Amino acid sequence: MSSFEVEAFRAQFPILNQSINGSPLVYLDNGATTQKPQAVIDCLDQYYQGFNSNVHRGAHELADRATRAFEAARDTVSAFIGANNNELIWTRGTTEAINLIAHSWGRVHLSRGDKVMITEMEHHSNIVPWQLLAQQIDIEVIAIPVTAQGELDMAAFEQMLDESVKLVCCVHVSNALGTVNPVEHIIAKAHAVGAKVLIDGAQAVGHFPVDVKALDADFYVSSSHKIFGPTGVGFAYGKYDILDSMMPYQGGGEMIETVSLSGSTFQAPPLRFEAGTPDISGVIAFAAAVSFIQQSDREAMLAHEHDVLDYAHQCAAQTVGMTVIGQSSHKEGVMSFLLDGAHPHDVGTLLDRQGVAVRTGHHCCQPLMAKLGIPGTVRASFSAYNTRDDVDRLFAAIEKTKAFL
Ligand SMILES: *Cc1c(COP(=O)(O)O)cnc(C)c1O
Repeated sequence: MSSFEVEAFRAQFPILNQSINGSPLVYLDNGATTQKPQAVIDCLDQYYQGFNSNVHRGAHELADRATRAFEAARDTVSAFIGANNNELIWTRGTTEAINLIAHSWGRVHLSRGDKVMITEMEHHSNIVPWQLLAQQIDIEVIAIPVTAQGELDMAAFEQMLDESVKLVCCVHVSNALGTVNPVEHIIAKAHAVGAKVLIDGAQAVGHFPVDVKALDADFYVSSSHKIFGPTGVGFAYGKYDILDSMMPYQGGGEMIETVSLSGSTFQAPPLRFEAGTPDISGVIAFAAAVSFIQQSDREAMLAHEHDVLDYAHQCAAQTVGMTVIGQSSHKEGVMSFLLDGAHPHDVGTLLDRQGVAVRTGHHCCQPLMAKLGIPGTVRASFSAYNTRDDVDRLFAAIEKTKAFL
């Protein structure tokens, strides 16, 4: 018996309780960002009303409180993913975390002729930083192909993998298709040829428990705002000895040990990679979001999410003129689709008029759309607060949309 009470969970998200264009809001754009529970909103409020202060350098009580909360947040979030607290670097989000690794690890450990392997289903944020680095240091970027089902071609992966590959970058859960990739297997194979592995967990961490040590990931990155936390904050996890081998990302305050005009020495990780005043309130509220999730029975929460996603796919199978894009048997949180004869943008606009928020377009995955031969999709993406009732309203809106087309 499930001990996840979806109505009680949903009631903690004040934004969901409103009408949009005359209909109750059905929010199915969680792949872009999730909504925030009252606990996270209150946390931001309490910080600014109670102890706003700069961290790590204060000689007064408020600064001590802010620093303690900031570092306690590092404990909370690192424990949440099974990392040690000195292995978690705060960033602006997944994008900055990948750029940090490309710069700080890539410039030390990659040289001309080395290969970085990505996949055809990466988000642009796990493609473009490697292309930029390739322009600078002449490495090669190769991509694991995606099958028509929307899964990684694992046979091709094994063929492409050799000792010239120094890093494999792979999305844990595809934001465009929902496919859950076999990252454990990819990590083991990559390690066997001496390559490091970076996992983009932006769509994973909010749905199921992730343990970076059990995965044996070298790097794991994610964003707070995809996990009920605020925008503008996320993390780069890296194994400590790897972080310790990396050069700083940005220079400035906080990341130094000593500075003189003839040169500077740097802090140990993770502070070496955190130049300047961080998003203090964001970090603290990110930890509040994690504590919020941890109050739920995660197994029951995931079972509820699977029930809603399976129900959506059952409804899709019975809808004439609808094609689901991404047919993997292992999906999480996403149903991407097309309606016959309709451009995804038009479908999105007509759904919005009925209060149903989805995303349309390429979902920052242009190479994937090109591979699948489609201009984009309509993406309904689900979170734990969505219900079968939301799915019913989505499909009622789809039927009305079909009548307009
Ligand atoms: C959202 C997302 C990103 C980018 O995250 P930002 O918070 O915009 O930096 C990267 N990868 C995936 C899979 C995503 O879903």
